[in-house]
Amino acid sequence: MRIRDIIGRLGGDEFALILVMQQGQQGAALVASKIREVLRAPFELQGHEVNVTASIGITIHPEDASDFDTLIKYADTAMYRAKQAGRDTYRFFTAQMNADVQARLNLETALRRAVENEEFVLYYQPKVRLNSGRISGLEALLRWQRPGHGMVPPNEFILLLEETGLIVRVGSWVISSVCNPIGLWLNSMVGAVQVSVNVSGRQFVEGDLDADVIRGLEINGIPADLLELELTETSLMANTERTIGTLRNLKHRCVQISIDDFGTGYSSLAYLRCFPIDKLKIDIAFIRDVTTNPDDAAIVLAIIQMAHSLKLDVVAEGVESAAQMMYLRRHHCDYIQGFCFSAPLPVTQVEKILRDEQHLLLPVGARSTQQKTLLLVDNEPHMLAPLQHLLRQDGYRILAARSAAEGFELLALNEVQIILCNQRLPIKNGNSGVFLDNVKELYPDTFRISPGDIYRESILDAMNRGAIYCVYTKPWDDILLRDNVREAFRSYCLLHNVFTDDLDG
Ligand code: C2E
Ligand code: MG
Ligand code: MG
Repeated sequence: MRIRDIIGRLGGDEFALILVMQQGQQGAALVASKIREVLRAPFELQGHEVNVTASIGITIHPEDASDFDTLIKYADTAMYRAKQAGRDTYRFFTAQMNADVQARLNLETALRRAVENEEFVLYYQPKVRLNSGRISGLEALLRWQRPGHGMVPPNEFILLLEETGLIVRVGSWVISSVCNPIGLWLNSMVGAVQVSVNVSGRQFVEGDLDADVIRGLEINGIPADLLELELTETSLMANTERTIGTLRNLKHRCVQISIDDFGTGYSSLAYLRCFPIDKLKIDIAFIRDVTTNPDDAAIVLAIIQMAHSLKLDVVAEGVESAAQMMYLRRHHCDYIQGFCFSAPLPVTQVEKILRDEQHLLLPVGARSTQQKTLLLVDNEPHMLAPLQHLLRQDGYRILAARSAAEGFELLALNEVQIILCNQRLPIKNGNSGVFLDNVKELYPDTFRISPGDIYRESILDAMNRGAIYCVYTKPWDDILLRDNVREAFRSYCLLHNVFTDDLDG
């Protein structure tokens, strides 16, 4: 440091620097960078090489505050921001940081009060078995009836419950609260209903999960397999020894275990072997675009296949549309959970759904038909009618889409063998890729036919990439186009070993 600067140790691994300088912001940032650079060189400590990094918080006098205590407090807040940002960096204190810290403190106080006053309630969301359409169980989801704020969803407070450790008490309350309706339903018209609860990693370490579960089951007289625990990969990976122990005990009693948000946490696939798991829940992040994005689809299909090989069931989370549902069903996903069947509901409403035995209806016309099906996609709608008219005489079931989005939806909902579509139809307006390229990845079995000139480079390129199977001229020759389509169906049947008659329906 320079002669007029001051450096000192506040305690533990915290140090303070007082820099006197002209251009506050720039000068301080420069010094912070230098400190990080110097520290980056390894130290030698009793023959070992040690690396140290620094997280630096900066506050400026007199702009931020004029008294010593406040300045230290602000620098501390900024330092925590630097740590949150991944460490080995610096952050300046801002008024927004102060507001955030204050808001967090208020929320924490309100949450402590919420725990005392029992302001939490549970909503229940049905899970549906895809091959029967029947409800297979429910997931209990926490809500906070915060006075003056209405119903607060968990993403606004779960993290803070975790950080403050309050989740242990709340989690224990969730388990006992869930067991009550399971017991009541069991002894009523509704019958046996399996309910899952989300469990935080801290409940394994600081709580007595075992005892909470056993008490809940015994008091309400319910068999253990009606209770399921959902854990995230991240909570499984922390404290593995203890967690494995507890899970084995619970599993021994037949409590069901599933992994939540699968595919998004830090995990090692090895744990799938050493944890006693029954189900994987595929995270909504992969489901959202599963019918349009080949990468997401590839991940989902790989998870389904791996789970089934390991004799685990698969639940898809956040299924909102019939197209997603049918796509997952066709690829043998076992269960879905999502708005396409029901949002999370208060206990009385979910009880009505259970009592009425409501179940998932497959979309009309979307049942798997053994019929030759042709999809026409054209963003110039006036082109669809004459093509439909021309090809209908050959007895195909014809589906028509006016955009890539409609095309993806129809493909997810129906078994389609042949697709007629412009080779360059964009997925969205703009530069987001070509419909047929994604279709080739998502539905590799389909035969894709495009209008175009085979001497054009783009068409040749698409053929070489395998995105299209054959080309017709525009305006088309009626007889030739019908021949091409007939030939495509014939090739499809030969290649996929289906008899042409099987497809005639
Ligand atoms: P999660 O366990 O993955 O729960 C699924 C979340 O997806 C729920 O959000 C649910 O409302 C939402 N969801 C369900 N279907 C759809 C859909 O079709 N579309 C969309 N966009 N969302 C859908 P929620 O209730 O807000 O809960 C968020 C997270 O909070 C849960 O994610 C879980 O990690 C946590 N959580 C909830 N209750 C508890 C609890 O009692 N204890 C603990 N430790 N965590 C909980
Ligand atoms: Mg869950
Ligand atoms: Mg989840």
